[in-house]
Amino acid sequence: MTEVFALPETLSPSGTGTFQNCPLQFRFQNIQKLPQPPGAAAVKGNAVHRALELLFQLDAPLRTHEAAHDFLATAKTEFEPTYDITGLNLTPDQASKFWADCTTLVDCYLRMEDPTSINSIDTEMWVTAPLAKVALRGIIDRIERDADGGLIISDYKTGKAPRDIDVDGKMMQLQMYAYMLREMRGELPTSLQLLYIKDGIRHTRTPTEQSMRFVHTRTTALFNAIEKSCATSFFPTKKSGLCNFCNFKSWCPEFGGDPSKAAVEAPLKYPRPPQ
Ligand code: SF4
Repeated sequence: MTEVFALPETLSPSGTGTFQNCPLQFRFQNIQKLPQPPGAAAVKGNAVHRALELLFQLDAPLRTHEAAHDFLATAKTEFEPTYDITGLNLTPDQASKFWADCTTLVDCYLRMEDPTSINSIDTEMWVTAPLAKVALRGIIDRIERDADGGLIISDYKTGKAPRDIDVDGKMMQLQMYAYMLREMRGELPTSLQLLYIKDGIRHTRTPTEQSMRFVHTRTTALFNAIEKSCATSFFPTKKSGLCNFCNFKSWCPEFGGDPSKAAVEAPLKYPRPPQ
C-alpha cells in the first residue's frame, strides 16, 4: 500500500536546506519526524549558543569573560541531565573533553568580538511569516542595532567555516530570517552576519528588496516541490558526502534499505527515555 504523507504546516530555513540536500531525508526528519540520536557536534553548538544567549541578556558592561564562562557552567548544568548529553554515552574522559571543547569555543568567540560593545536588542527570537500554504518559522540567535539604528541579524556557527564560494548558500538561512523579520516588523534589516566562532571568521551580507523577492520565489518553489512529493509519495534520494552523517542510512534505498520500514524500526533503533 502506498504511504500517504501530510504536508508540513511549518517550514524552517534548515528544513528547506534538508529538502534541497535530500528529499528522502526531509521526509524522515521533517514529515515523519522520526527519532534520531543526539550528535556531539550539534550538542556542543547548542550549549555554546545557550551560554551566549544568557550572556546577551545582561546589560552590556556586565558581559565579561568571567560571565561568559559562568554561563557555560549554567548551560552544562542544564544540559547534563537531558537526553542530548545522556544519549551521547560519553565516558568521563570524553565528557571532560566535550566540555573543554565548549570552553574553547566560548574563548574563540570572546577573541572574535567584544560582547560589551554590542547593542543587542533580542536573542533566540522566534520569527514567522506566512508563505503560500505554509508558515515559515525560525529562531534568530541575536538581533542588534548598529550605530545608525539599522537592524543586524547575527547567527553563531560552531562548525567549520565554508569556502568563499559556498557563503551565499549559507547566507540563505539569514536572508529567510530577514524576510520573516520584515514581514513581522515592516523593517528590512541592514546587515546579516554569520559568525564562524571556531575559525574566527565573520561573513556579512546586505539584504535588499531583490534578495527578499528571491527568498519568496525560491521558498515558494521549494514548497511546491514538497507538496508534489507529499501528493505522489515520491521523495527522491540525493546521494552525497552528507550521507556519511545521515541517521536514516539503514532505510535508504541507496544503501539497500527500505524506507517503508523506518517508521517502525527508527524508534526501536533510537529509543528515547521517557521525559
Ligand atoms: S543516506 Fe543519503 S541519500 Fe539516503 S536518505 Fe540519507 S542523505 Fe538521503
